[in-house]
Amino acid sequence: MDDLVKKVKLLRALGQKTGTCFQRCVGWDGINAVYSVAYEMDRKNKTDYLERFQKWLTYIQEENLMVVGAMTDPKGDRSRGPAEQADPDQYVHIVERRPDGVVIRGAKLHMTGGVNSHEILVMPTTALDEKAKDYAVVCAIPVNAPGVTMIFGRQTGDDRRDRKERIDSGKPSFGAVGGEAVIAFEDVFVPKERVFMDGETEFTGLLVYRFAAHHRANYGGCKTGLIDVLTGAVGYLTQIQGTGKASHVRDKITEMIHLGETLYSSSIACAAEGTPTPSGAFLVDTMLANVCKQNVTRYHFEVARLAVDLAGGFLATLPSEYDLKNENIGHLVKKYFSGVAEIPAEDRIKIGRLIEAMTGGTALVESMHGAGSPQAQRVMILREGNLDKKIQLAKALAGIPPRRVKKAEARA
Ligand SMILES: Cc1cc2nc3c(=O)[nH]c(=O)nc-3n(C[C@H](O)[C@H](O)[C@H](O)COP(=O)(O)OP(=O)(O)OC[C@H]3O[C@@H](n4cnc5c(N)ncnc54)[C@H](O)[C@@H]3O)c2cc1C
Repeated sequence: MDDLVKKVKLLRALGQKTGTCFQRCVGWDGINAVYSVAYEMDRKNKTDYLERFQKWLTYIQEENLMVVGAMTDPKGDRSRGPAEQADPDQYVHIVERRPDGVVIRGAKLHMTGGVNSHEILVMPTTALDEKAKDYAVVCAIPVNAPGVTMIFGRQTGDDRRDRKERIDSGKPSFGAVGGEAVIAFEDVFVPKERVFMDGETEFTGLLVYRFAAHHRANYGGCKTGLIDVLTGAVGYLTQIQGTGKASHVRDKITEMIHLGETLYSSSIACAAEGTPTPSGAFLVDTMLANVCKQNVTRYHFEVARLAVDLAGGFLATLPSEYDLKNENIGHLVKKYFSGVAEIPAEDRIKIGRLIEAMTGGTALVESMHGAGSPQAQRVMILREGNLDKKIQLAKALAGIPPRRVKKAEARA
């Protein structure tokens, strides 16, 4: 539990330093999920997945390697399962089994930190049934294995970074999201000792569930770090613009802080309420993790809305860094984009660009879809919400005695 709590604190601290996704957590969550599920698979089926996994994990830890947590498949037609797709490669699957390993084909999309990682931990994206047996594969692949291709994602503002526009990038050292890549597997051979699930469809649901819970629990840590930066940027900007003392401004900044801390409490709570899995590895409280991520899909956007409100329209209309530095017109940009006399206009411009970078384009998409789109959390919240128990509580207080429900009535 203590480790889970420390992870949340670390995520917040890293969010504060980078103002973006900093890429490590998804691999950690994959490691934790696979470890506990491998233990349970071995116990049921007398396989040796945990021993293989522990050898690989020891190597990862000794070499201090970075791992991509590769769950999300392209998914093609979302109304059909993996085995019913017109193109079977829309989900990663085994195309050949050999005595010494398996050959896999397909792709994983949105792979955070892919291009700066060393290893890819491939996991199925959804619970699978018997007919999708070839899709039930968990394995570790070095990023430079033959047949692996990465295609880097395009983010808002990366052309500004390419041209070394330090001010206009807003946050020149870091991107808008976590350096995501498409990772394609074109018949990649994986040796047996790196395969941690092969066909055990009955464990795929559990694996996705545990990975998603660990990953959803993170978002109140990392995104609170980003919200800290955004709140600080807005706080300083209101000082520069002479609005900082107005009561509605202070109230909106209070709301930004409140929303950030609400998310943080949720992350700390699901870590502090963690429980051990049969393997001994701890799992966060899954209900609280889903609530945490669901709130991130809303509150981060609300914080951004308040930031844009307090910043003003110059976020969208500011002339470029080239104009600021131009000898003919630079003085006009400085003059008309200045605020209070004591603070240089360049501070206002830099902070404006930082807020632009952290509220626009690709910056917020991760809060919506990373670790699963909002509906994925709502499904879990209702499933784990124990509505029957809540109904019993209400009935007890209202003085309604328990009664036997007839079968036909229950069906209705
Ligand atoms: C910045 C970023 C980083 C990410 N990093 C990683 C990573 O490192 N590793 C990883 O594995 N994944 C990663 N993801 C992927 C993330 O988990 C997915 O984006 C998320 O699960 C949603 O999947 P999707 O993007 O395919 O959207 P979709 O699943 O297509 O969802 C889009 C919308 O369609 C709805 N929908 C989906 N299916 C159905 C259906 N059958 N019927 C009706 N409605 C449906 C959803 O509810 C949602 O509203 C990352 C995503 C982002 C944005």
